Amino acid sequence: MISISKKRFCLVGVSLVLVFGGLSAQEKPASTMSEPMAVDGRISAALQQVSADRIRANIEKLVSFGTRSTISAQDPAAIASGRGVGAAREWIKSEFERYAQDCGGCLEVKTDTFTEPAADRIPQPIEITNVYAVLKGADEENAKRIVLVTGHYDSRNSDILDVKGDAPGANDDASGAAVSLECARVLSKLKFPATIIFLTVAGEEQGLNGSHHFAKMAKDQGWNVEAALNNDIVGGDKSAEQDHAVVRVFSEGLPAAATEQEIKRIRGLGGENDSESRQLARYIADVSRSYKKDVDVKPMLVFRLDRYLRGGDHSSFNQQGFAAVRFTEFRENFHHQHQNVRAENGIEYGDLPKFVDFDYVAHVAGLNAATLASLASAPAPPANVHLLTKDLENDSTLTWEASPGGHAAEYEVLWRATTSPEWEYVQKVGTVTRATLQLSKDNVIFAVRAVDPQGHRSLPVVPLPER
Ligand SMILES: [Zn+2]
Repeated sequence: MISISKKRFCLVGVSLVLVFGGLSAQEKPASTMSEPMAVDGRISAALQQVSADRIRANIEKLVSFGTRSTISAQDPAAIASGRGVGAAREWIKSEFERYAQDCGGCLEVKTDTFTEPAADRIPQPIEITNVYAVLKGADEENAKRIVLVTGHYDSRNSDILDVKGDAPGANDDASGAAVSLECARVLSKLKFPATIIFLTVAGEEQGLNGSHHFAKMAKDQGWNVEAALNNDIVGGDKSAEQDHAVVRVFSEGLPAAATEQEIKRIRGLGGENDSESRQLARYIADVSRSYKKDVDVKPMLVFRLDRYLRGGDHSSFNQQGFAAVRFTEFRENFHHQHQNVRAENGIEYGDLPKFVDFDYVAHVAGLNAATLASLASAPAPPANVHLLTKDLENDSTLTWEASPGGHAAEYEVLWRATTSPEWEYVQKVGTVTRATLQLSKDNVIFAVRAVDPQGHRSLPVVPLPER
């Protein structure tokens, strides 16, 4: 058992009743300020390979299929003619296969095809295909852990049932599909202990059908998806009001998959801001601080599932109980989404490549790649993290099980004020599985993370109370 010396805290916390911001001096010792994670030179070098030109070529290629409406033609003749969702799907598959060849077969390219029954936005049953590439983890035990990046390759215009008219979908969401492709291209040159999946789905505009099917398959087959990064509308539309230095990261608060009993506990303990998806969002912010020299965009964490009246593929993963977030440009231009290409009263409508900032998409791809690579390099999060609450006391004792997979060199206890958006303080506790801190659990939120010898950090795990 590690017991953090009270004396040490008293050195900095001379007056224990003096309150700085959210926490008292005792809870805010200067020696434990949280620092960004260590930079991994290998990851940094991979980020330098992310190419705005490649992303531009891929977005323009996706737009060249005219429409990628999920209900557009996908028969062999349509595929041969290069128009429609089928042609787009075949091209994405061939592109992943090209990357696989370039890395000596390190990527396994797969499709997930299913029939979606007729619904509001689906006039008759339709075959939908998700296309993905798997970079299997190099370590047998850790290969079971999966981190995933996704974007939807389908598009739409003003009429969700229009299967013929142009629906370029350059920003929504060729940009997101291009992020998955570019992450696959640059990261497939490296090996990681955990598995990375580069996914592109269809059916998003019709009702999140592709992501729903994929996430359910992952759940039914018992996949351990630690994180899903959804990129949807990451084109950085070139409107005057755009902030090209910022990308929004949306994360759910109350988990969609929580049971009534879990919701009751969350309500009772003030856990509304600590879903696994929110830990993932904070992790992305941590990654962006470490790789700020390589990634020229800052995440703006939005503690909300999605924008008003809008949805996205991350929620399909949330519904199956997986941590998932959504990346979206800072300011959307609604003239350039879900619109027939046209000009009216001097306004240009339509989702065309000329409105997309390809450098911006490359920066967002870099942030995704840095997050995927950091998570896939890190040890598994500690398991069964608990906070002992049996006795009334002002100390806090946390217990956990060792990070499965054996890569953890040490553990760190994090904490922050209940009012703080991000982790503020950290105490290294070594290779133990139990730690007592002279901090009151009533005043702070704790988490535990595993760290490997190179400083790769797992996602932090917030403890469950144990009586
Ligand atoms: Zn979209």
